Amino acid sequence: MAEKSERAQNEEKILEFWQENNIFEKSLKKESPQGEFVFYEGPPTANGRPGIHHLLSRAFKDVIPRYKTMRGFHVRRKAGWDTHGLPVELEVERELGLKSKKEIEEYGIAKFNEKCKQSVWKYKTEWENFTERIGFWLDQENPYVTYYPEYIETLWWIVKQVYEKKLLYKDYKVVPWCPRCGTGLSSHELAQGYQDVKDLSVYTKFKLKNEKNTYVLAWTTTPWTLPGNVALAVGENIDYVKIKTSKSSEASKSSEASKSSKSSKSSKSSGEFLILAKERLSLIEGEYEIVEKMKGKDLIGLQYEPLYNFVGENISGPEKDKIKNAYKIYGADFVTTEEGTGVVHTAVMYGQDDFELGNKVGLPKYHLVNVDGTFKKEAGFLAGRFVRDEETAVEIIKDLAKRGLLYKKEKYTHSYPHCWRCKTPLIYFARDSWYIRMSSLRDKLIEVNNGIHWEPEHIKEGRFGEWLREVKDWAISRERYWGTPLPIWQCQIGKSQILRPRRIRLWRTNPKQILNLKSKILNLAANGQ
Ligand SMILES: [Zn+2]
Repeated sequence: MAEKSERAQNEEKILEFWQENNIFEKSLKKESPQGEFVFYEGPPTANGRPGIHHLLSRAFKDVIPRYKTMRGFHVRRKAGWDTHGLPVELEVERELGLKSKKEIEEYGIAKFNEKCKQSVWKYKTEWENFTERIGFWLDQENPYVTYYPEYIETLWWIVKQVYEKKLLYKDYKVVPWCPRCGTGLSSHELAQGYQDVKDLSVYTKFKLKNEKNTYVLAWTTTPWTLPGNVALAVGENIDYVKIKTSKSSEASKSSEASKSSKSSKSSKSSGEFLILAKERLSLIEGEYEIVEKMKGKDLIGLQYEPLYNFVGENISGPEKDKIKNAYKIYGADFVTTEEGTGVVHTAVMYGQDDFELGNKVGLPKYHLVNVDGTFKKEAGFLAGRFVRDEETAVEIIKDLAKRGLLYKKEKYTHSYPHCWRCKTPLIYFARDSWYIRMSSLRDKLIEVNNGIHWEPEHIKEGRFGEWLREVKDWAISRERYWGTPLPIWQCQIGKSQILRPRRIRLWRTNPKQILNLKSKILNLAANGQ
């Protein structure tokens, strides 16, 4: 092994001096005429080894407190350990050979969490040595640990503050979902599982209301989302055309063959009118004539006939009122003319853009698909079918064709995300989540950011400023086992209550009392209080 460099030897001598003379401790005790400078250590995870990128962030976290100390501040530097979260669970799952949430539950959640707890300290010594060697002054003797009850109670206290400020709410969040494992995937996990697949893609005709024989064309590579369609989206400034076709589409042909639909036959004799982006005209088969040109904004607000009535017929509760906003054309930034028809079919429960648009304009949220990826019984002829099966796509396509609503179908090869664990194709799927209403704090956040000294300066208006201007509500819950349990009790009718942390402490000493309290809350909620 090579000799240590002179610089390294010097560093070690300095560290030794600091340690022998308790310089860090003394720096905390010295006079601080400027008062307190608050430093929060964003804690590392000790179930992974420290890496070179940690050196960089730890150097920043050391330099600033030292500088502030020299300027006459007192800077408390409490170390912390992030012990919760998916990375820990994944490692334990691997160790135990568990492959799904179902298997974890069969193994036992308490036992599983105990294993997680043991695994989080794996590299603690490496971390402590690393921290000391790089000269990061940090109080490692008294760290905060995210699985300690004291820490969890602090979080519960914070959740309660958020709740009392009316910033806490429950909504859906669209996540990449593995229907086999029964879990959402993080963006990091998502990136690990893309594969090229061939899917059936469909050009569907959405019949405009109050306009004879006129359809808006939309394209999708996921026909299973069509029964959940609640809106169409266009780009406001995109050029669209209304064309009159002379050749009837596949759908009309098949209707004619079955001699069952008079309207389709008449649509053939007079041709039909289709609306799509001008740039996408190449997808039209056969002769056509442009009869009208318009911008996307001219289409906004037009109503069309629902493709399926499953949502409208089954929806109940507060979402039911939103049906009045459904089956209309809306403007959206995410629409392009690179693929498809320049019109985007929108199913709010099964797409992230769709969901955001739905929130913006108040589209109804209703699930037609179970967590295991099969259609619910409310989905009529599709009930029980697995959404990603090709036969399911074929059933939907046949149904559309029968009703004269299919323009054409084609095989489409694209890169599609798969579960990195079990290779099942993922679906985008809306799951329940608890949110903090960050969007309502936007102005305040921006105002506070204006008073912050940023280094380098451009971050203030640049990366950080942009993030604040676009700040989204924050989904804080995860459907996992090894984490802080949320202190939210909810009764059947949807009223929720947050426990006071003081009460929560009873949980450890007197769980029975908490159960009594819980039933009291449920009673209150049931009485509409
Ligand atoms: Zn999976």
